[in-house]
Amino acid sequence: MADRAIEPPQLEPEQELENQEEEEQLDPEVAARRAAALAQLRTFGDPVLRTRARAVDRFDDALRSEIAHMAELMNDALGVGLAATQLGVLNRVLVYRVQQEAPVVALINPELEWSGKESETAEEGCLSLPKVLVEVDRPVHVRVRARDEQGEQIVVEASGLEARVIQHEIDHLDGVLILDRTTRDQRKEAMRALREAQQAA
Ligand SMILES: [Zn+2]
Repeated sequence: MADRAIEPPQLEPEQELENQEEEEQLDPEVAARRAAALAQLRTFGDPVLRTRARAVDRFDDALRSEIAHMAELMNDALGVGLAATQLGVLNRVLVYRVQQEAPVVALINPELEWSGKESETAEEGCLSLPKVLVEVDRPVHVRVRARDEQGEQIVVEASGLEARVIQHEIDHLDGVLILDRTTRDQRKEAMRALREAQQAA
């Protein structure tokens, strides 16, 4: 579980994309904010999560306020990444922040330009798949070309957790979920957990 080792200390390990286990230990106010944020996200079974998002061609105030909203939801949900798809918005926009003190990074129209041969398997969760943790093998080093929120071309070279989160979120923009990237056995178990969670809701 490589992302455990590289996760900053304030964030829980499962928080590749979130933390599902420790809700009871959260400060009640934090827990309430988290629940409110999660309630705004699309979850498994929603066809939007299986839909490929469209490239953004207008870098305007509407886009920037969408990004600000995504960053706020990601923070409230205690996640480290979020794709617009998860809000039901089919724009190729993702935000992430892998260290609590770091600024939120927004990538628009991200393209995986290069990935290294070295790969690593680690547990991932997803804000759209409550109660699911599966092992996903991904390249450790990637280079991504994207636009920033002003429309400027940027290149991000990332490794470890940052590379993992970016790849997870780009997958969302392509309608791909961690269920598609794990073993058959883990997918089966995850589907069972999802059914149980949906019945309990
Ligand atoms: Zn996700």
